[in-house]
Amino acid sequence: MTAPTPADRALGAVLGSAVGDALGAPFEFGPEGAFSARFPRPGQGGEMCGGGGWDPGEATDDTQMAVLVAESLLERGGLDPADVFDRFRRWAAGDPKDIGLQTEAVLSSGDPWDTAAALHFQTSQRAAGNGALMRAAPSAVYFARAGRAATMDAGRRLAALTHGDAAAWEGTALYHELMRVALPGGDPVAAVPDALAAVRPAHRERYAAVLAPDWHPDLATEFNGAVWPCLGSAVWAVRTTSGYEDAVRAAIDCGGDTDTVAAVTGGLAGAVYGVQGIPQRWREALHVPLPGFGDRVLRAADLAALTRGLTAP
Ligand SMILES: [Mg+2]
Repeated sequence: MTAPTPADRALGAVLGSAVGDALGAPFEFGPEGAFSARFPRPGQGGEMCGGGGWDPGEATDDTQMAVLVAESLLERGGLDPADVFDRFRRWAAGDPKDIGLQTEAVLSSGDPWDTAAALHFQTSQRAAGNGALMRAAPSAVYFARAGRAATMDAGRRLAALTHGDAAAWEGTALYHELMRVALPGGDPVAAVPDALAAVRPAHRERYAAVLAPDWHPDLATEFNGAVWPCLGSAVWAVRTTSGYEDAVRAAIDCGGDTDTVAAVTGGLAGAVYGVQGIPQRWREALHVPLPGFGDRVLRAADLAALTRGLTAP
């Protein structure tokens, strides 16, 4: 396998996140180890199995929302939070098969884009879910060239559209930064200490715990639908494996919120290993319905076109 180019890594990030999402979806809320119990041997085939209401290869809300972010960035020529929020709302009204609790509450509130998430957080005090982190691969690709401070800030602003808890903003900012390092060929795991230094001080300690070299998903103090163990599990999966397929297998074997943990893992692993690291059989099966936007269904080639737009000079 030839070394991935930056273009291979960008496509690996966007496609890798979508493939992880589709691969993990049938195992959502299942036990630890369910994936490798069913598919003991890497490379054996048939893993895009569907189930739990998902067709084989069907991507879930994680990827659907990621596509909406990507299309907004391209059509608006940059970050237009009101436009992203409008697209999210149209999608939510299109009755997607799955939607996160916090995301649904905020998007259906009728409140304006710049206050809806904050108002929800004021009353619920629960908004540190992984639902903003899960959709961040395309925005991480888009903002990588803007540098550390700018990509982390964009991550925060995109997360804040649906998640009022700054913990969700910082987790998304961290993911943007690790991707920024990985996309030109750097080691995102080695970049963790520098990335942590750029996290808002009030949130640093908690992220330092889940990103520590000796952290393991079994040490999580919350369900992995929360932002901290979700990001921690993704970095753990990349740190403890040596290829895309093994990283995503490890992520799904964590159990719990398997589609999102695998989407976050798959984005980072795709950036590290490039699109050529993602098994062809998984790329071919992938499809992304877009509720609220007609009968559109995106395939891998459509995600590739989007990615070319995100990285265009
Ligand atoms: Mg999902």
